[in-house]
Amino acid sequence: MKNNNTDKTKELKTDWVNSLFLTLTPVSGIILLILHIRYEGFDPNLLYGAVFFYFLCGLSITAGYHRLISHRSYKANPIIKFLFLIFGAGAFQNSALKWCSDHRRHHSHCDHELDPYDINKGFFWAHMGWVMKKEPTDYVKRFGGEMKTDKLIIWQDKYYLALSILVGFCLPLAYGFYMGSPIGGLALAGVLRIVFVHHCTFFINSLCHIIGYQTYTDTNTAKDSPIMALFSYGEGYHNFHHFFQTDYRNGVYFYQFDPTKWLIRSLSYFGLSYDLIRTPDESILKAKINMQEQNAKVCLPIDSIQYKQIEKAKEVIDICILRIAELKKQLKKHGPDTEEIKRRINVLQIELKSDLEDWKMALNGLQLA
Ligand SMILES: [Zn+2]
Ligand SMILES: [Zn+2]
Repeated sequence: MKNNNTDKTKELKTDWVNSLFLTLTPVSGIILLILHIRYEGFDPNLLYGAVFFYFLCGLSITAGYHRLISHRSYKANPIIKFLFLIFGAGAFQNSALKWCSDHRRHHSHCDHELDPYDINKGFFWAHMGWVMKKEPTDYVKRFGGEMKTDKLIIWQDKYYLALSILVGFCLPLAYGFYMGSPIGGLALAGVLRIVFVHHCTFFINSLCHIIGYQTYTDTNTAKDSPIMALFSYGEGYHNFHHFFQTDYRNGVYFYQFDPTKWLIRSLSYFGLSYDLIRTPDESILKAKINMQEQNAKVCLPIDSIQYKQIEKAKEVIDICILRIAELKKQLKKHGPDTEEIKRRINVLQIELKSDLEDWKMALNGLQLA
């Protein structure tokens, strides 16, 4: 997995502040926990607060920094955006301006030299090694886009350190005082929670480019993994995300664990989020079928019967998908024949279901052969 870029990263200077923070937080968190048990007696109720802070700060990163600001996959009420910026700071992952610029760079140059967390440089680099090095170039200028003139984002960037200390340490300490265990509050809802949120979100850059399936594309290393989704607030469906990056969902199906999607959707019921971007179902299906076709064909001779069967079944699906997409476009024009178009879409969707059954049979036949 190593490439020439590894040599270039060695030339980068160490970021001592980040390196010490990343190594000292787990150590000091454990020390504080021991002190809490020793002097305050372990209070299991503090875990509720820790979990609350874990979701509050982690979801502010995934729903706020990531899907709202980096990808603009929906719009949010300014109060919600403000809250995401405040509690996102409590995750100690840099200001939104810096975080989102890095993330846009990741998408634009995935798996290449300019990718800040290029997985080809190894697990450790993609997970946290890149945070421990100083970038010689100010990439905010190049990838910051509209964020550079967004007053809320600029404000958060200016007061990032104060905000992160306030949310990351002071609030958990105050919570601990309220619960009668200040050291416990600081240890569990503060320091150890920061460590957990760090590594759960770092997994998105590391393991989500290693573990799982390439459901929609193999043009980059991003993978879909329901297991990783559990640890990353739903961001584990990373292959989907890299292919349809403006979609507000990562786990696109209702049963896929994606609390970030659920939060954004719930906010929309109260008008607090709106203009949610959803990739059309047909485009998602087409990408999925294309990948299945590519994988199925890989070990088949071009002139084999199975190769031709797969091509034919795929062609039928493609035509059906195209016709549904065209009709849906017509539907948006709100013409006088709306009901008729809806009826034709329904017919085609039934047809598509049966075409997909034929498709599955063609692929199953391949496995049995
Ligand atoms: Zn990625
Ligand atoms: Zn992204």
